Amino acid sequence: MLTAQRIVKTYRRKRIIVCLSLAIATLLLTTGVRYLTERNRNEQRVTLFTARAVSTVESLLEPLAASRSALFPLVGQPCEQAVEPLRIESARLQTLRAIALVKSGTVYCSSIFGNRNETLRQLQPKLPSPFPQMLLTRDNSLIKGSSVLLIWTPTSADGQDGMIQALNIELLSRLMLEPARPWVDHVVLNVGDVHLEYGKGVVQTLPGKPGLETRDGVSGRFPFSVTVIGPPGDRLALKFLPSQLPLALILSLLIGYIAWLATAGRMSFSHEINLGLAAREFEVYCQPLVNAQSQQCAGVEILLRWNNPRQGFISPDVFIPLAEQESLIAPLTRYVLEATASQLHYFPDSSRFHIGINVAASHFRRGKIVEDLKQFWFTYQPVQPLFLELTERDALPDVDYRVVKDLHSLGVKLAIDDFGTGQSSLSYLEMLHPDVLKIDKTFTAAIGTDAVNSTVTDIIIALAKRLNIDLVAEGVETPEQAAWLRRNGVAVLQGYLYARPMPLHAFPAWFANQPEAAKENGTAVRAVPLR
Ligand code: C2E
Ligand code: CA
Ligand code: CA
Repeated sequence: MLTAQRIVKTYRRKRIIVCLSLAIATLLLTTGVRYLTERNRNEQRVTLFTARAVSTVESLLEPLAASRSALFPLVGQPCEQAVEPLRIESARLQTLRAIALVKSGTVYCSSIFGNRNETLRQLQPKLPSPFPQMLLTRDNSLIKGSSVLLIWTPTSADGQDGMIQALNIELLSRLMLEPARPWVDHVVLNVGDVHLEYGKGVVQTLPGKPGLETRDGVSGRFPFSVTVIGPPGDRLALKFLPSQLPLALILSLLIGYIAWLATAGRMSFSHEINLGLAAREFEVYCQPLVNAQSQQCAGVEILLRWNNPRQGFISPDVFIPLAEQESLIAPLTRYVLEATASQLHYFPDSSRFHIGINVAASHFRRGKIVEDLKQFWFTYQPVQPLFLELTERDALPDVDYRVVKDLHSLGVKLAIDDFGTGQSSLSYLEMLHPDVLKIDKTFTAAIGTDAVNSTVTDIIIALAKRLNIDLVAEGVETPEQAAWLRRNGVAVLQGYLYARPMPLHAFPAWFANQPEAAKENGTAVRAVPLR
């Protein structure tokens, strides 16, 4: 069976799990989204960088093409004539280091040195060539060892005549190919199978960078490509994540807190009780009360049962105190009143058959119980008198004593339940004028065994006699207890010795099985001498 603490704990645990899961999901989602956006942004950055590097190099090479066609006629002309226009052109295009003219495979004129006489193949093994060529190489004439980009344009069909433009590519590359850290670590210009790496000059092999990612941008207009090397976008995004964590944590805590507030109603025991009421999961049971002397059935006490389809059977000892805490006891009592009133046909149709209903003291506030009785009990015009059993564990001082008067005028009688277990004070007895004191089952169980509790029982009995209040003992399980109680003047007995609580529809069968002496024309007319 479930205990109150376990139920409340289960709800709290479920609520904590839901809120924590939501907070963790928010944390994962925010960091996940930030990671993906950052990764995409990194990739876009590198793509853009590569495209821009290619177009910058292209914009450098474009003016050279125009300049070449203007200079072609100079090829073959004597150097004395040609050198001046070469120098002017070379000065005009600041990207150019030099222009040289080639005749029959021999460099015969240069914008820097004027007249020359050097075999081109010795300077550049790949030249001359019948096709235009672009070569990345080291300068062997002017600034020895520095990187240059040579553009060879043949002017004769056999490729022995032509023109060379030498670009100061190392200087230019410093301007064009600067890496953008942390996304790009290395930028390489590739011409044929020769590479120019930023900061390193011409190299024969492409730098291998373990753990880094390579991206190529190929020019559509010139025979070169740019290789961009840098850390993978996802690794960079991962590095960036810790800086996002505080914000994501705050957001997830906020969502968790909002979920905590939002689930207060839905994931609580009061929600469960409301669900149970709406789905009519509660059932009223009754337990007979028997006249101690005549053994006649004097009436019944109505006891609530809850077979919760989600949690199984829940004892009233668990849900009644929780319902009282959650201010749901009044709706539950209304439910009991109506469910009992609509099934009164199961009980003897007698004004001497008492029906006891348990009520909480809080229901007495501002006369609420009187209104509810009028609406949910008296509309059925029951013949059977009603007893309200008021449990002492509630704060009896809460009871509005004017309400007690109203109840008496409606013919409703009052019993103090579990008498002797709480902080009863004689003054309550005086103010409430109860018709009955119910001796709690712990005292009944103590009869003949537990000296202290037996003394309390003696005192309760003496007190009731003195105040002229009838006594009902609950929890009578043995004939010895019944005999003792009878001997000591307890008028009515209730307990497993006579019957266990049963559904209302089972009562007629139980009643029919009672010895004839206990019945009179099928009704319990000679019931308890309750006033
Ligand atoms: P209670 O008013 O003192 O009811 C008597 C309890 O003792 C019942 O437990 C009954 O089943 C049990 N009982 C009866 N005879 C014996 C017996 O011979 N031996 C033993 N060991 N127990 C016996 P139950 O039905 O579990 O109810 C527990 C408590 O829950 C009730 O104690 C009452 O305070 C509360 N309760 C039950 N139904 C309602 C209700 O409709 N409204 C309110 N406000 N409280 C209710
Ligand atoms: Ca009771
Ligand atoms: Ca009791």
